[in-house]
Amino acid sequence: KHACWKRGAKQVIKWKFGMTLPYLALARTLAAMEDTKGRLKVIEYLSNYFRSVLVLTPEDLLPSVYLVLGQLGPAWEGAELGVGEGAAIKLVAEVTGRSAAKIRQSMAEIGDLGQIAESSKSSQKMMFKPAALSVRNVYEAFVRVSKLKGKDAVKRKCDDLKTAFVASQKEETRFIARMLLGKMRIGFGEESMLQAIGLAVTKTPPLQEEYPPSIMDNSKKLSSSAFDELLKSQVARLKRAYCECPSYDLIIPLVWQKGIDHIEENVQLSPGVPVKPMLAHPTKGIEEVLQRFQGHTFACEFKYDGERAQIHLSDDGTVNVFSRNQEDNTGKYPDIIARFKGSLKSDVKSCIMDSEAVAFDTEIQSILPFQVLSTRKKKGAELDKITVQVCVYAFDLLFLNGESLVRLPFKERREKLRQIVVEKEGEFALATCRDTGNVDEIQEFLDEAVKSKCEGLMIKTLEEEASYEISKRSLKWLKLKKDYLDGVGDTLDLVPIGGFLGKGKRTGFYGGFLLAVYDPENEEYQSICKIGTGFTDEYLEKHATFFKDHVIPSPKSYYRYDSSVEPDHWFEVAQVWEVKCADLSLSPNHQAAIGRVEAERGISLRFPRFLKIRDDKNPEDATTASQV
Ligand code: ATP
Repeated sequence: KHACWKRGAKQVIKWKFGMTLPYLALARTLAAMEDTKGRLKVIEYLSNYFRSVLVLTPEDLLPSVYLVLGQLGPAWEGAELGVGEGAAIKLVAEVTGRSAAKIRQSMAEIGDLGQIAESSKSSQKMMFKPAALSVRNVYEAFVRVSKLKGKDAVKRKCDDLKTAFVASQKEETRFIARMLLGKMRIGFGEESMLQAIGLAVTKTPPLQEEYPPSIMDNSKKLSSSAFDELLKSQVARLKRAYCECPSYDLIIPLVWQKGIDHIEENVQLSPGVPVKPMLAHPTKGIEEVLQRFQGHTFACEFKYDGERAQIHLSDDGTVNVFSRNQEDNTGKYPDIIARFKGSLKSDVKSCIMDSEAVAFDTEIQSILPFQVLSTRKKKGAELDKITVQVCVYAFDLLFLNGESLVRLPFKERREKLRQIVVEKEGEFALATCRDTGNVDEIQEFLDEAVKSKCEGLMIKTLEEEASYEISKRSLKWLKLKKDYLDGVGDTLDLVPIGGFLGKGKRTGFYGGFLLAVYDPENEEYQSICKIGTGFTDEYLEKHATFFKDHVIPSPKSYYRYDSSVEPDHWFEVAQVWEVKCADLSLSPNHQAAIGRVEAERGISLRFPRFLKIRDDKNPEDATTASQV
């Protein structure tokens, strides 16, 4: 009996020892999650499924995690299936016996290939009942198919996946079809995933001795407050481990073999696996900096306006560059890769360096604005075809020759960084830095930074409370941007969740958009403003084309908005925009940070203006409700 049944509904799946885990169990769990609104309930469904997996076939935990997330491996590896929408529609048509034109028409109406495939297939009569699909086989098929390259690759991919499709039934068909397009449509993020795993393992520790194993429930042995306490600490452990090493490939086997109790000892920084970076708090002036850092020694550094580059050198000599968002930017920066080893002293065997890659004019030896950097090719750049040169400004060192440095104070990390770097003008340099707590000197240094085409200053504690805080927006790092000095402090990074059809000159495009912040505690997107300013004609066209593929028939259950701001088209979350505004105000219509300042009113932006698309951020990295 499967542990994730919905109350009242009979969902019994036959399973005997020695069998692999039926994919139907996962597909039904996903369907139950999709039908449920409350986040805690959704987490509970998935964790109940995980508990069964832990007891019955723990090797299936890893493929299960990836199939829930719609991924083929760690997010930063960016593995893609390589089957476009056209081919996916054709495949669904073939398997269900409907014409591709009909499927396309349904897509235009419903917008969800999963639902279309499921209902088309359920009306089909099968002569023979195919063998049941297993979680492992389905996952392995997708991974295998993603690796097919070369001539007729798409056709070979579709041929391979056809077997799984034909054998699928009911909910299985829905989620296989969604996997084809890489969109599971259950709105399940990383935060919830770690909680579901944490809850499952805390309730049902893996590798029990008893036979036959039972789905024990630890929560029944403890008082509810003691269990909650235990759960909180286990989830926190798991999250810490995941931030240091955001790879389920490494974490999940540890979880089912050893539990969560000692996970931090077993998971360490390792070159080649991106680390979630430390982030800074905005401040509105030097006074605030001095106030916050009272009693601390601190360093001021130029804040360069480029793209964060976490550069890894592994023991085998491989160099990787990861973005702020743990995306593999190695293919974007062949120039950094080619030079990196030459920029280090010869005794460096492995390291992880935090830096900013900045567009640089080598003729006049000057930094260029971010807009120039954004014209570089994003993937597969060729060294001899690069037109925009970059200079790397190194500002931190997280790992050196087999040892993690994150617990050392910044002063010591910086010393080590200085010892290993070989600077070369216009190619590789240490971030310009001054250790001072004097107001006039900080002001002078800020002016110098702005003159040198930087965004302002980063101000960092040096000795006490100065460790590197993986994945945290820490008060040990403050940012002082030149823009803060006029207007509202920082810009915001917001997610478009809807579009208003344009009129007049904007007919055929969107005239405005509904933007949202992200609230990680409730895992919802809360509307913060409508925006119609700051778009060039080129951007209007770009947005219209981009969102065509992201329109959904109705808002997601995790969008929070008031009907007075309802857009003409709803979008799934797909992009992040940087937006500037003149002020913040309390709003009866917008829901951002609702309940934090006032119970019934949220916060909205006054005079919002579009600045740019933030390609280096996922929707979940958008400005949060608490930041607002
Ligand atoms: P956040 O990352 O805080 O959400 P953001 O991505 O919009 O916001 P900023 O507000 O511009 O980034 O500030 C932090 C970023 O500044 C870092 O992620 C890094 O890319 C960049 N940066 C430039 N110079 C430095 C420096 N000297 N030290 C640390 N970060 C720097």
